[in-house]
Amino acid sequence: MKRGVVLLAGGIGSRFQGQKPKQFLPLAGRPVLDYSLARFLDEDTLVCVVCHPDWKEELFSLPHWDEQILVADGGKTRQESVYQGLLCLEAHHIDVVAIHDGARPLFSRTLLERGWKKLVETQAAVPVLPMTQTLASVKEGVVHHYLDRSSIVTIQTPQFFRFQEIWQAHRRARERGEREATDDSQLLQKEGISVDTIQGEPWNIKITTPEDMILAEAYVKQGVGI
Ligand code: C5P
Repeated sequence: MKRGVVLLAGGIGSRFQGQKPKQFLPLAGRPVLDYSLARFLDEDTLVCVVCHPDWKEELFSLPHWDEQILVADGGKTRQESVYQGLLCLEAHHIDVVAIHDGARPLFSRTLLERGWKKLVETQAAVPVLPMTQTLASVKEGVVHHYLDRSSIVTIQTPQFFRFQEIWQAHRRARERGEREATDDSQLLQKEGISVDTIQGEPWNIKITTPEDMILAEAYVKQGVGI
C-alpha cells in the first residue's frame, strides 16, 4: 500500500496573532512544523506540505526539509488547503493517506502506527479523546441545557483514509459549494462511509493560542510524544 501525507501549513495564524503563522514559531528550538515533518519522514511515505506562498522560504529552511517533499499552495480555508494537497498527491498513485494539521507537533510514532494499522480493516480512522469536562449549551449567558458527555469525544489529526474515498468526498463537497469544513472525516461521513476511531493522545494538542505554546514546551521538556 503506497502511503501519502497531506501536511497542512497553509494557515496564516489569524487567531494566534503572532509575528509568524503558528506552525513556524519556535518550539524548544525547532519550528512547530518541523516536528510532524520529521515524524512522517521517518517512514516510507510521500509527503505533500500545503503552504501559503508567502511562507515558502521559511518552509524550505526547516531542519528536516528534503528535496523529495512535495509542496502545494494553500487555499483560503483549511478545506481548500486539503483539496490542494490531495490534488498534488493524485498523480502519485497513493493508496492510503494521512491528513494532518501542521499545528499539532507532538503526536507519537505509536499513534501513527495505530492509524495505518486500523486502516487495513476499516475505511477511515480518526484519533479521539473522551470528553472529561461537563458540557452545556448557553443562551444569553445562562446555562440552557446540560449535555450528556458520555458519547462525546474530541477529534484530532492525523486522520487516516483510503485515498480515492477522501479525494472523492472532497471533490463532491467542493461541487456542492462547501468550503468551510474544519475536519476531513465529516466530509467522508456525508458520503455514507463510516469513520472508525482510534485512541488519541492528550499531548497531541493543536497550537491555537500563545498558552498552547507554553503547554507544548512543557510536553517537549518531558519528552512526551517525541
Ligand atoms: O486554523 P486551524 O487551527 O483550524 O488550522 C488547522 C491547520 O490547518 C493548521 O495546520 C493550518 O496551517 C492549516 N490551514 C491551512 N490552510 C488554511 C487554514 C488552515 O492549511 N487556509
